[in-house]
Amino acid sequence: MPTNGEIADAFTLLGDLLELDGAVRHRVLAYRRGAARVRSAPGSVAEMALAGRATDLPDIGATLQAKIVELAQTGSIAALEKARERTPEGLVRLARLEGLGPKRAMAVWTALGVTDIEGLRAAVEAGRLGEVPGMGPATVAQVTAQLADPAAGEAGAERVSLGLALPQAEDLARELRAVPGVRRVEVAGSLRRGRETVHDADIVVAADDPAAVAAALEASPLVAMSAGGGDQRRAVMTHPGLRIEVAVAPPERFGNLLQHATGSARHNVRLRELALRRGLSMSEHGLTAGDGTVTVHADEAEVYAALGLAWIPPELREDRDELAVAAEGRVPRLVERADILGEIHVHSDWSDGRVDMATMAAAARDRGYRYIGIADHSQSLAMTRGLTPDRVKRQWEAIDALNAQIEGITVLKCTEVDILADGRLDFDDDLLAGFDLVVASLHSGLRATGAEGTARVLAAVEHPHVDAIGHPRGRMMGRRDGLQLDIEAIAERAAATGTLLEINGQPRRLDLDSDLARTALAAGARLLLSSDAHGPEDLWFLDLALRVARRAGAGPEDIANTRPPADWRA
Ligand SMILES: [Zn+2]
Ligand SMILES: [Zn+2]
Repeated sequence: MPTNGEIADAFTLLGDLLELDGAVRHRVLAYRRGAARVRSAPGSVAEMALAGRATDLPDIGATLQAKIVELAQTGSIAALEKARERTPEGLVRLARLEGLGPKRAMAVWTALGVTDIEGLRAAVEAGRLGEVPGMGPATVAQVTAQLADPAAGEAGAERVSLGLALPQAEDLARELRAVPGVRRVEVAGSLRRGRETVHDADIVVAADDPAAVAAALEASPLVAMSAGGGDQRRAVMTHPGLRIEVAVAPPERFGNLLQHATGSARHNVRLRELALRRGLSMSEHGLTAGDGTVTVHADEAEVYAALGLAWIPPELREDRDELAVAAEGRVPRLVERADILGEIHVHSDWSDGRVDMATMAAAARDRGYRYIGIADHSQSLAMTRGLTPDRVKRQWEAIDALNAQIEGITVLKCTEVDILADGRLDFDDDLLAGFDLVVASLHSGLRATGAEGTARVLAAVEHPHVDAIGHPRGRMMGRRDGLQLDIEAIAERAAATGTLLEINGQPRRLDLDSDLARTALAAGARLLLSSDAHGPEDLWFLDLALRVARRAGAGPEDIANTRPPADWRA
């Protein structure tokens, strides 16, 4: 009987091969959704399919059930074998590389006869990748960089969202803090630097007895399996499949370990060069002088101080200009959680939110907010029960009644109005004028390439009633990259018109990302942080948006949420 994992792998491969072969989008997605559903099903899906009951599962229709039965009875799926004959399986790994994707992977095959990742490596070394039509020097460089990783393009090398990885790492960190003898525990690595996606997670622990930490990891209900290592450094796999590496040091050199494990690799290379110029060699074990004496540091700031630097926030450690800035003591004050007074983009059960407005408002107040803007969807998004103008007016009355009753927080009348295909908005100006604040978002046409995405966003930026652009790029991790925006042009107009650009904190969005947000700030735009919460348990997504903003180098003055909305126009 095939396991759920084997069925899911077969469907994933079939979806990937069909995509390479240029199959219609919904067929590809049907196999991918089916794969995800089978993988997460609690019981044997093969047994269900043989009993004709796999179709009880969402995303599993008669076609997919028939293929599961076929796999169970014959050990293979004819459609998959046919797809394998048409398209070399090795191209799947090529298609996963950033900058390539299915179309360019096929072009590489056609132009160079390359059918797998080894062939691609050889073609790159021979300098032939640039011969492929449509392959510019930037893409060649991007692909070449990824090939340095032996696991390039492997499914296991897939990155997961900060929003999925961070809670898992923090849960394990919390458990380890409770272990007797443990003094300090921090999440390190790319999670601490706030990268939007990560390969794996790092946790560093200050403890005198590493064996006790190892034993706690063995016994942890969060850990699915040990992935190797000794007491000082041990890797584990969580149940959802995140690899977490846990390193232990005695408390007196916890600062050295935390600094080392936070990275980035390139930041640490620059630091080691700086240390060498001072006659010091630097590692997670401390700073070693020429005569062999080792200095260790309990706190991370001491490590930087020993090199003549101010402490650098982890989000800025990417080998940009942070060492020069820290040497001059000019490290910027980044926006912090305590600066945030509220937000204006959450949903209620008036559209597709899960709870009523009073519950959302109370949850926002519990987070210490002074205001919360309920921004439900507009009429065109029927799927989300988008509001008609009539219902908008009834919602306003309900908000007035709520404000008369609730204490400690102000509820604002907001909307997430749809930007239609032609750039117009989904409500007329009279209605828009009645809202406290208007967030305008794109929810369709997000696979468009070229300039039309920028034009639609620009039209909304210029609209006199629009206060902010929601999730500007429209990306959805694992599903679509979203629009290719001319972010500089958008940010310049946003700055001129006083329109805020959102960093949407939903784990699969994180949109704008930190690179785009950095560019937007440089062009003079200001940012809005949003959880886009659809229930109280989503409000913490704002913390993810905050990390993205910090990675973009944003200070409190760059973020609208650090001020009451009454100040925004000024
Ligand atoms: Zn939206
Ligand atoms: Zn929304």
